[in-house]
Amino acid sequence: MANKLNLDIPNLYARFASPICEVDCGQICREFNASGKPFCCDICVAVPVALKEEWTYLKANTHLWHKLRGDECPQDPIDKEKMQAETPNYMHLMACKGPAYCERDFRTLSCRQFPFFPYITADDRLIGLTYNWDFEEVCWVINNLDRVSDRYRQEFLDIYDNLLFEHPGEYDSYYWLSEDMRERFIKVQRSIPILHRDGGYYLLDPKTDEISPVDPSDFPKFGAYKE
Ligand code: SF4
Ligand code: SF4
Repeated sequence: MANKLNLDIPNLYARFASPICEVDCGQICREFNASGKPFCCDICVAVPVALKEEWTYLKANTHLWHKLRGDECPQDPIDKEKMQAETPNYMHLMACKGPAYCERDFRTLSCRQFPFFPYITADDRLIGLTYNWDFEEVCWVINNLDRVSDRYRQEFLDIYDNLLFEHPGEYDSYYWLSEDMRERFIKVQRSIPILHRDGGYYLLDPKTDEISPVDPSDFPKFGAYKE
């Protein structure tokens, strides 16, 4: 059944506008990307998505975005059909003009949330933020979780508490992404880092969803960010 949502996109954007941390993380991670772009703004590395309601708003207000064609990364053309099949039907695959032309107010929710997603336990509790593990090797934020501001964490949770309540498809999508992460981390015998809604930092046992407090400086580091 088609979703009939009445999402107030400018309101969501206004409530989710704080930077992740005090430093411009893109200026750090781009040093490690051959293209010179922050990894999450490089279409050859990450393809943004937008809710259909976001695209309706964005196309009326900015020329920053277009729907993904598939040829935006000439050295590694994107298999758009395959990617579309893996994307919820209420989302569009998108491409922007690139970081040199970014318009902060018109970033999609997928830009604003990166590298995080709402972690939902097996028994249906959205307890906090975790991250997209595919980017552990390249994303400075993932390697510096203690630098994420309390304000960003709070805005993130306010938005996703609201959005996942209003949008059951999004809830299911993040529930199953959390489940994928549990399966993956059980396989590699790792705990899942959590920026909890209580303000604390935890490691979560993916077999039980039990959390243990941790000093954030003890979270593992990866790739070029290892000491
Ligand atoms: S969120 Fe991660 S990948 Fe994106 S600009 Fe910041 S450090 Fe780079
Ligand atoms: S809109 Fe800005 S933040 Fe989003 S992918 Fe493009 S350059 Fe990056």
